Amino acid sequence: RAKTDGRGCWRAFDATMAEALRRRRRLEADLRDALAHGQRGLSLVYQPQFCLNLNRIIGYEALVRWTHPELGPISPCDFIPVAEEAGLITALGQWILSRALETAATWPTHLTLAVNLSPVQIFEGDLTRHVQQELIRTGFRPQRLELEVTEGVLIENTDRALHILRQLKGLGVRIAMDDFGTGFSSLSYLQTFPFDVIKIDRSFVEGLTSSPDRKMHKHGIPAEAIVRAVIGMAHAIHVPVIAEGVETQDQLDLLRDMGADAVQGYLIGRPQAYCLSEASPVLLAAGQR
Ligand code: C2E
Ligand code: MG
Ligand code: MG
Ligand code: MG
Repeated sequence: RAKTDGRGCWRAFDATMAEALRRRRRLEADLRDALAHGQRGLSLVYQPQFCLNLNRIIGYEALVRWTHPELGPISPCDFIPVAEEAGLITALGQWILSRALETAATWPTHLTLAVNLSPVQIFEGDLTRHVQQELIRTGFRPQRLELEVTEGVLIENTDRALHILRQLKGLGVRIAMDDFGTGFSSLSYLQTFPFDVIKIDRSFVEGLTSSPDRKMHKHGIPAEAIVRAVIGMAHAIHVPVIAEGVETQDQLDLLRDMGADAVQGYLIGRPQAYCLSEASPVLLAAGQR
């Protein structure tokens, strides 16, 4: 049996509690160790975001990777929660932002960079000051940086979260709502904060197909109806929509018809560690397909 953890991550529940706890403690100790030793085993990969109006890649989302010395690759769905609970997410998140900005500073200047923020990271330390410092240090134009938060950030401490998000926006960076539709009161959150981008969660895109046996979303509503409604609502408040997890040409065509602004997913490109300044001519050509 498997269960989603609210961030689109699926977890196996075949391990016993004791086993799970042991693994968690081990990951925590080894992650602490990695952070203390120059981020050993940690790296970033970048996934392209493709604009359907311009027909080209407009930017990349940074995604963290961890290769454990003995266990091999560990999913961020497994180690981000560990980092959050162990008080390591601020150190990890600061490193991710710094490294991503350093890399993106070498890209052609029309490309944007998206970086994920953990809800825990938002309330720990002085995030705004760190973002500002790193923008200055790397010379990266704030308008090219997009910070992705999930609606979970607005569930508790709403006022404090809004204050911090406004501070961040004040720097000139954009704020994206990630995994839209998977939380509890998605619609009301759109009223509380002026998000610059809405990312439709992969679970909705998954059900999009032009074949007659179209899939229902888990709520029993055709995925297409939900996606169409989200796009309509976002556009009514002048917020662009990017669809996550696009894997087939069918899905891309449907999303284009429905008016989605951009897409991200394996069809366009998997997250990769390439040095973009060298690979960009190829990537930009791929965007012209
Ligand atoms: P997310 O931010 O919603 O990222 C999208 C996830 O979907 C990524 O998984 C990406 O590799 C995957 N994906 C992209 N396109 C497709 C597709 O077409 N099909 C399928 N099946 N999957 C696709 P990943 O890298 O394993 O990350 C999972 C989650 O872990 C992220 O969800 C995010 O919540 C978190 N995460 C990843 N990197 C970071 C980070 O640097 N900082 C923080 N705080 N969280 C991160
Ligand atoms: Mg997700
Ligand atoms: Mg994201
Ligand atoms: Mg997402």
